[in-house]
Amino acid sequence: MIQAINLTKSFEAGTKEVKAIDHISFEVAEGQLFTLLGPSGCGKTTTLRCIAGLENPSLGEITIGNQVVFSDSKGILVPANKRSIGMVFQSYAIWPHMTVFQNLAYPLRGQGYSRKETRERALRTLETVGLLGLEDRPAPNLSGGQQQRVALARAIAGNPRILLLDEPLSNLDAKLREEMRSEIRQLQRRLKITSIYVTHDQVEALTISDQIAVMEAGKIIEVGSPADIYLRPKSRFAANFIGLTNVIPGRKKAALAGDKMIVETAIGEIRCMVNDDLNQQKRLLILVRPESLRVSRTLPDGEENVWPGKVKEKTFVGDFVDCQISCNDFLLRAKLDPYTDLATGDSVYVSVDPVRCTTIPEGA
Ligand code: ADP
Ligand code: MG
Repeated sequence: MIQAINLTKSFEAGTKEVKAIDHISFEVAEGQLFTLLGPSGCGKTTTLRCIAGLENPSLGEITIGNQVVFSDSKGILVPANKRSIGMVFQSYAIWPHMTVFQNLAYPLRGQGYSRKETRERALRTLETVGLLGLEDRPAPNLSGGQQQRVALARAIAGNPRILLLDEPLSNLDAKLREEMRSEIRQLQRRLKITSIYVTHDQVEALTISDQIAVMEAGKIIEVGSPADIYLRPKSRFAANFIGLTNVIPGRKKAALAGDKMIVETAIGEIRCMVNDDLNQQKRLLILVRPESLRVSRTLPDGEENVWPGKVKEKTFVGDFVDCQISCNDFLLRAKLDPYTDLATGDSVYVSVDPVRCTTIPEGA
């Protein structure tokens, strides 16, 4: 278990004070992989470094397992080397003047393992990450993916309580990134090691995480499972940061049976699911993913939300066609089948299932 309460870290930048993270609270359950996702500069690395003990927070409390490792109010500060943490950095940070084996052995010896234990442990860990046989290679004579595996092996060799990974894949090319992503995930599940993973890459976050915390400007905006964050975002920022989404402003008009409601928008009336978080608020935003829109030449049967529209723009992307459709002068983004024969200028009908229309308060 990892818990952060009101974690805050300010830096002096000339005469100004920069709040890199601002009263962040979260909890990572035992054995889970928790991701901090957000754009560059939002405070992900600072959060991770505070947990690792590489940075002293200005305020707050951090608990790892049942040990408070930092608390400003209780005056507790456990040094980094006493926190039992494995860490993997974006830059690998493996030691270039050492062999693969030495990269693992050096910190193990530092932790007090005997020469024999160190050898056994290092070789076992190299086997775990698929590097057995390469132990005598100088570390720089490895490919990027292999170097990242060394970094991962070094992080887990000492059997740490928790694993922290800061954008570990961003220096790898796309294909390898995908491979390593699933290897890290499998390893994390096998070891059942409580982990925090930092990335600005939404697909990485969605595919690797048990829980995702979306961050913006030093704050956590929302926390949820990958499906929650993608399908039922609670904020405009999360909806826009993670994939594309249509944001349609509207006013609640009437409640319907079956937890639905009618919302008035520029496109026309839209039937959506009721959102209890709206309270009495009438102004809201409807969020619809481009892949949720259906587009046809003929009027579809039995649909609750159907609007006439015109194809304004069409871009072939490969596995889909990115389409902009104007409905009553409101531009909607739709993801169409790559074999679609619709062309720019065509008149169409756009429809969407109310279940796929989520709503958030206007200011969220
Ligand atoms: P991320 O990892 O999400 O890109 P960081 O945690 O590295 O973000 O940085 C968050 C903010 O804190 C940024 O505005 C950054 O410039 C600032 N920051 C980070 N480290 C320092 C530092 N040592 N001194 C001053 N400002 C810093
Ligand atoms: Mg960073």
